[in-house]
Amino acid sequence: MALLGMTTATAQQPVERPRLVVGIVVDQMRWDYLYTYSSMWQADGGIRRLLDGGYSCGNTIIDYVPTYTACGHSCVYTGTTPAFNGIVGNTMMVHGKPMTSVQDTTVVGVGTTTKVGQASPRNLLVTTLGDELRLATAMQARVVGVSLKDRAAILPAGHAANGAFWYDSKVPGFITSTYYMDKLPQWAEQFNKRNKATMTDYDLWNNRNGVTMTFDMAAAAIDGERLGQDGVTDLLAISISTTDYVGHAWSTRSPQLDSIYNQLDIDLGRFLNVLDRKVGPGNYLLFLTADHGATHNYKYMSEHHLPTETMGNTSLEKKINEMVKDKYGIDKVVKAHMGYNWFLDNEAIAEAEADREAIKRDIIAALQHDDRISWVVDCEHPYDQSIPREVVDRVVKGYYPKRCGELYIIPVMGVYSGSHDGKGSTHGTWNQSDSHIPLLFYGWQVPHGERTERNGMVDIAPTVAAMLHIQAPDACIGHPIPFK
Ligand SMILES: [Zn+2]
Repeated sequence: MALLGMTTATAQQPVERPRLVVGIVVDQMRWDYLYTYSSMWQADGGIRRLLDGGYSCGNTIIDYVPTYTACGHSCVYTGTTPAFNGIVGNTMMVHGKPMTSVQDTTVVGVGTTTKVGQASPRNLLVTTLGDELRLATAMQARVVGVSLKDRAAILPAGHAANGAFWYDSKVPGFITSTYYMDKLPQWAEQFNKRNKATMTDYDLWNNRNGVTMTFDMAAAAIDGERLGQDGVTDLLAISISTTDYVGHAWSTRSPQLDSIYNQLDIDLGRFLNVLDRKVGPGNYLLFLTADHGATHNYKYMSEHHLPTETMGNTSLEKKINEMVKDKYGIDKVVKAHMGYNWFLDNEAIAEAEADREAIKRDIIAALQHDDRISWVVDCEHPYDQSIPREVVDRVVKGYYPKRCGELYIIPVMGVYSGSHDGKGSTHGTWNQSDSHIPLLFYGWQVPHGERTERNGMVDIAPTVAAMLHIQAPDACIGHPIPFK
């Protein structure tokens, strides 16, 4: 009888959780934008509401390289780094073949006939927050990802997601793949139909309408997928891509980017009102963060005497290949580079019966002569070199041998790939510009406050998991952040 009583009591006391978890990643949002744009945030806009009512973790750092989009979105939702989750870049070598982080030729697009639809989370090696929420609720929780970018919808949503929706400008419309379903849900089809004119008239990737359409699609998903509407917690992962496109095209201090962030503030404010109306104030737990930051533009930096330079990987690669050819007789020893990661042609080295370690040492010495490069990490022996742990640990945390090359270049601060007269900028390095991200929590059981203690991007997923009393993602290496 006692046992029966206990069972009944347990059944009557479900775990206290919010109705909905909303994760918002603003692609390429530097932490300091929260304050750079301070006077632009409107009283009824989204950012002011999060800053004034939420909890800001003001010193949140990405502690791996490269600080790229696919890696960032994966890390936020897996609580772990590329070395564990396998997402080592936007493009990467999988079984020796270059492919995008979410490319999957075993599936086809749904809502499109183009290759943009051939995508899934198969390259992601570990579970996500949404996967753990599904597992914790006997798959009753509903998990959905929405973004213009495929990888920014798919990787955050995870393996067991109910759906991920991304944008194909050729359609134009939001699409998915047969990994998730065979037919677009009616609500998504209706959304595309309703917004056809806007999608046809504007380049959503580079126009403020891209921000609006993404939030509107997310709002449509709340209705369509009935998110946050019952006693089981759901998860909605949103990512805003236009901020990144405009940042790459026009850089960090440009009227074009100002306009996009103005729109973000307005649309986020509208979206919070949607959540209040449909899920209820205090019934949802929201976090806002970024997948990486951005370095300032070369011209802007140099005009003000700040250290900066641009780097061409391709010309460097050519120079190194010529050097190795002269000394060892091996043609094109650097067979590829992906960002700052270089791949050696190990078959050619073996065929030439050359001393592989000696070749690596020669390449590293030659590259480290270049004024734009601080260090080159030999990823196979990272701790044998005199490179600060702060940097080398980040390389190791981003290194998954099956998908990475042997050498990793660490440029001098302010050096980025681009040209001296280019208008834009980029990201990817370990420096604060690229690695310091905003992290704001808001809503269910979140007090108002701020902390300046250092946290990692890896801490986001375990913080949410701890609040929900569910397991953190399986390869999580982060720790829950205390609100105090
Ligand atoms: Zn990005």
